[in-house]
Amino acid sequence: MSLEEYRAKRDFTKTPEPRGEMKPSLGERFVVQEHHASNLHWDLRLEREGVLKSWAVPKGPPEERGVRRLAVQTEDHPVAYLGFEGAIPEGEYGGGAIHIWDRGEYDTEKWREDEIIVSLRGERLEGRYCMIRFKRQPRNWLLFRCVSE
Ligand code: MN
Repeated sequence: MSLEEYRAKRDFTKTPEPRGEMKPSLGERFVVQEHHASNLHWDLRLEREGVLKSWAVPKGPPEERGVRRLAVQTEDHPVAYLGFEGAIPEGEYGGGAIHIWDRGEYDTEKWREDEIIVSLRGERLEGRYCMIRFKRQPRNWLLFRCVSE
């Protein structure tokens, strides 16, 4: 995990986004940012080992059970991004307004190469969420609420 890809995609003289640094994580926090880029999407970010593991969710994370949403894994983001809101200038990577849609803490039940189970405690998202990775398209995951075992 590193921030190389994150930094390579951005010009920090032009974007208000944090350059960030790798930090030991203090806890397990998460954020969902509504991102009005060329295609509206919601970015789910889970704090993990000094970075934010990140997915773009085109239709947004489901609040109800029985709804499965595509979540496309994107580059790790710096922990400083947890509080980021602002407008990325047009023409820059991810150009458009970003605001925080939900935030909170989470517990990890399972974190494997192809399956993640977490319990989210946010203002909007509350409960157990499962993520399953597509075997043939490894950046693509399915995100859905799952019942407790
Ligand atoms: Mn985004």
